[in-house]
Amino acid sequence: MANRAYNFNAGPAALPLEVLQQAQEEIVDYGGIGMSIMEISHRSKQYEQINDETQQLVKELLELPSGYKVLFLQGGASTQFAMVPMNLLAPGRKGAYVLSGSWADKAYKEAKLFGDTYAAAASKEEGPLNLPSLDEIQLPEDAAYLHITSNETIAGTQYTTFPQTGSVPLIGDMSSDILSHRFDASLFSLIYAGAQKNLGPSGVTLVIVREDLVKESPKTIPTMLRYDTYVKNNSLYNTPPVYSVYMMNLVLKWIQRNGGIDAMEKMNREKTALIYDAIDNSGGFYEGMAVKQDRSIMNITFKLQSDELEKKFIEESAANGFVGLKGHRSVGHLRASTYNAVPYESCKALADFMADFQRRNG
Ligand SMILES: *Cc1c(COP(=O)(O)O)cnc(C)c1O
Repeated sequence: MANRAYNFNAGPAALPLEVLQQAQEEIVDYGGIGMSIMEISHRSKQYEQINDETQQLVKELLELPSGYKVLFLQGGASTQFAMVPMNLLAPGRKGAYVLSGSWADKAYKEAKLFGDTYAAAASKEEGPLNLPSLDEIQLPEDAAYLHITSNETIAGTQYTTFPQTGSVPLIGDMSSDILSHRFDASLFSLIYAGAQKNLGPSGVTLVIVREDLVKESPKTIPTMLRYDTYVKNNSLYNTPPVYSVYMMNLVLKWIQRNGGIDAMEKMNREKTALIYDAIDNSGGFYEGMAVKQDRSIMNITFKLQSDELEKKFIEESAANGFVGLKGHRSVGHLRASTYNAVPYESCKALADFMADFQRRNG
């Protein structure tokens, strides 16, 4: 058995051991060609097969209805913050944003560079970290789209259901929770996700889009920042991030082999219950940072009652093989990211460590 850390990194994050091992096996000789997939043309039949199969896997796992295109882009989710308004925010219309936390704020700020924006709802600033509820969302009449961040990676808050927006396209940043739980993908006109949290390594950004939304992007947009470039060229306009797409392909097959999205959700709920229970049963020794109803099954944010204790927790957990438990610099405290590929055993070990740490320091 490989010597693997208890990896709770927020991103780039844990990958399934089986996937890493398969990649290791194939790295010098992919499918008997005597070369790795990194060393051949992206127009080879081997890569085209990976490109097409990976699109198909996304469609199957998310049960996408017809009319959607699956695209592979670069530049991370952060580039999507700009591409969405560049392509979809027409003059005279408003880009509406649900302001649920740091990532939503970044998307909103970027949209302001390109046109009019509208704050459709915002988290309450007082009290524990929280999400605006769906019924608080207000759409302006001239909305070009509504943008929502499904999982706020830094705060540890997550939507489980999404608004019906009628004729207004719904756009989702699902970078940190795509394929973590069942949701109705058909509500969305566009979904994007940087791969490095729940889908694979960094380098590729998954975009799922309704074809009718991106038939023709405005002519003034650079070629590489137009959705229609990727649609018309099957994500092969220029050299794609071949290895990252290959790795995503392996991760998606791993999800499929392990029972698909429902099995992922069940496992994620069981995994996070172990840690949330350790918090809730600690009599206030640990405190969750998000309101219970908005708690994420991907990122668990929590704190201890003093900076000294938190420092000690980080040091002792690190000495026991735990990695990535320091909270994001903007909110501080502690965070455990429990993406699909984080094994149940890691979460069990963390819950046990938390109980033991409390016994020794409570
Ligand atoms: C990590 C993250 C991003 C930024 O992703 P990059 O690929 O690094 O640009 C955007 N949104 C959310 C929700 C994230 O978790």
